[in-house]
Amino acid sequence: MSYKATITSQIDFFNSNKTKDIAFRIEQLKKLKSIIKNNESELCEAIYRDFKKSEFETYTSELGLIYFSIDSAVKHLPKWSNRKRVNTNLINWPARSYIVPEPLGVCLIIGAWNYPFLLSLAPAVAAIAAGNTVILKPSETASASSAAIAKLINENFPSNYFNVVEGGISETTELLSIKFDKIFFTGSSAVGKIVYQAAAKYLAPVTLELGGKSPAIITNNCDLKKTAKRLVWAKFLNAGQTCIAPDYVLVDETVKEEFIGYLKDYIIKFDYSFENNNYVQIINNKNFQRLTALIDKNKIYYGGETNLEKRFISPTLLKDVTLDDKIMKDEIFGPILPLISYSNLEEAIVKIKLLPKPLACYIFTNNKNIRDKLLNQFSFGGGAINEALMHISNTNLPFGGVGDSGTGSYNGKAGFATFSHFKSILHKPFWLEPNLKYSPITNTKLSLIKRLMGS
Ligand code: NAD
Repeated sequence: MSYKATITSQIDFFNSNKTKDIAFRIEQLKKLKSIIKNNESELCEAIYRDFKKSEFETYTSELGLIYFSIDSAVKHLPKWSNRKRVNTNLINWPARSYIVPEPLGVCLIIGAWNYPFLLSLAPAVAAIAAGNTVILKPSETASASSAAIAKLINENFPSNYFNVVEGGISETTELLSIKFDKIFFTGSSAVGKIVYQAAAKYLAPVTLELGGKSPAIITNNCDLKKTAKRLVWAKFLNAGQTCIAPDYVLVDETVKEEFIGYLKDYIIKFDYSFENNNYVQIINNKNFQRLTALIDKNKIYYGGETNLEKRFISPTLLKDVTLDDKIMKDEIFGPILPLISYSNLEEAIVKIKLLPKPLACYIFTNNKNIRDKLLNQFSFGGGAINEALMHISNTNLPFGGVGDSGTGSYNGKAGFATFSHFKSILHKPFWLEPNLKYSPITNTKLSLIKRLMGS
């Protein structure tokens, strides 16, 4: 079937109102969970082919998080989809006011390659929960995972409800030439702009989940050892190919030597060798070459080993980095961690503000004033205090960027809202008909209006 024919069949199915039934949505979500569960080993094999990723990591950073989002939607959907009563102002008395969530229609979801299951299926869960139909286009870069998703969904769901389309730029370009009721995109800022422009043609609502340079700020009043442990895990998970990975470290200069030593200790302790299944490959040669070109040999404190054949880059710490270095010009998206020191907090804040608004920020401090100051002085998508990455695993926290790192959010209730329209209704009875707004206009009416409308 052509894309247009599939989309037309989805429009017809959506118009049948079947997806508006809450029991139907819950049934589909449960079905999705059960087919993922039944096919876990195939999914793990596919992701292993793309990344050499272990079952442990596939479960913790992909499948487990998808199960969280399904469970949360199944549990809360009846409440999320209820109409909500809100107060009515005096001028509208005796009306009632309420908000009715409704699905948007046929949704296009475009995924990124770095967490191929999570970034495709978690938005799909939100779209289904909100009562939409879905066309999903995973990233062609993780080709085995893309094929596994297509097989999983297309063999188990009818194409007029949930369909996976595989392909790269030309297929996505063709899809983007068609009118959708919602476009949800995860990927780079550069392609995000292309998607935004394509959506503008039809005034389609858009969510853009993009990337950026997410800082980790290490103050001199935190537990340096535990900070290093948490940061090493967060940075080198998926070999740094994580949109919310700490991209660079801003460290107080009074503790920088001690801190970088702890980072090195944990890298050694966690054993990120090629042979260890806890450490994944770089996705392809193009990214391998891009990343190796970012390693300034004069600034290596630890690591820097590379092997093109194995697409292996060892965890690499770069010391005494400045904003002028090449590594600070773009999102790294790989296992290289530059450290920049600061002599006072203001200097760190100025540095962060020189770069576009990041997707995440991680603040390590036990000092409440410093924490609040950092939280309030610059903008970022979301983040954590004394932790990194884990905020994405809490479905009560909306996940998304701001400015250059994205627009809109999802995760739990936020995902339901992203794929819904909230219809506002003022509901008036017939038993009272005040004549205030009708002709003839009089001075008495005007003074009453002025009192009612606040002047
Ligand atoms: P990408 O922008 O290259 O590709 C994303 C998707 O867009 C893919 O499905 C691809 O097929 C499609 N695409 C690529 N070029 C296109 C074009 N010219 N026209 C139309 N479609 C096109 O991104 P990527 O390399 O897959 O992912 C890496 C980026 O994504 C990083 O910047 C990362 O930070 C970001 N990211 C963000 C999140 C988030 O949740 N905010 C999650 C993961 C990745």
